[in-house]
Amino acid sequence: MSVVTRFAPSPTGALHLGHAWSAVQAHARARDAGGRFLLRIEDIDGTRSRPGHVAAILDDLDWLGLDWDGEVVFQSQRLALYAAALDRLADSGLAYRCTCTRADIAAAASAPHGVGGVLYPGTCRGREVDPAQPHCWRLDMARAVEAAGPLDWTDEIAGRVAADPAIHGDVVLARKDAPSSYHLAVTVDDAAQGVTHVVRGRDLFAATHVHRLLQALLGLPTPVYRHHPLLAGPDGERLAKRHGAPSLAAMRAEGVAGRALAMDLKAGRLPLGFGVLDD
Ligand code: GLU
Repeated sequence: MSVVTRFAPSPTGALHLGHAWSAVQAHARARDAGGRFLLRIEDIDGTRSRPGHVAAILDDLDWLGLDWDGEVVFQSQRLALYAAALDRLADSGLAYRCTCTRADIAAAASAPHGVGGVLYPGTCRGREVDPAQPHCWRLDMARAVEAAGPLDWTDEIAGRVAADPAIHGDVVLARKDAPSSYHLAVTVDDAAQGVTHVVRGRDLFAATHVHRLLQALLGLPTPVYRHHPLLAGPDGERLAKRHGAPSLAAMRAEGVAGRALAMDLKAGRLPLGFGVLDD
């Protein structure tokens, strides 16, 4: 089987060393196996995505020497695919309209807690909702889990993982302000693009429980996953922009050699002060 991986950044900010670390690993996983490496821009969030960030991402990858195969794919141009997948789930009675606001959900006295904080308490499940009202679409998790039966996936680092999507509750499939959720778009696209190995950070490990379920419900193949450890900054905290991680653009402007950096990252050699988080 030919290996196909992808790098799928959201153009909502500048890429930093943590993104380079992830992109290098996805690129290496494909290239070392003689496979293909794809670039997908996850720009369905129209309120936060910026074209300027897309241009910067392409420059960053070019600087790192990470070449990709084929055309760059933009999620904003694939909304019909996500809508079709949502229709399918709705037609099977597995998705429902929800008009709740964040405040409604937080205020629900019985709201249970899950991985991402408060779980949706199910207020709109089984309710007639006027389609003219602003609404999102949610997965009826209990029904979906029952329809799919037991599921698992293979992670090249964690091994065989039993899927437990119920930890997420009734996840959003299409948002009020965006035609698809991250979960639905990423699942549809990884299958449509023939991605065989999803290489991404451990911060997305929990999301795979949902992706595995959506694959089963939509009759899509399950890729192998490789959730790599995340980078820590000099303060020992996970690298993220809010902790002041230097952007790749800033490193480039300072004269850092991108290709040498990519080779170092591939070999596990991190710039001084950075480390790998082990949880
Ligand atoms: N777009 C996501 C992000 O930038 C990554 C999606 C994925 O790799 O599945 O965090």
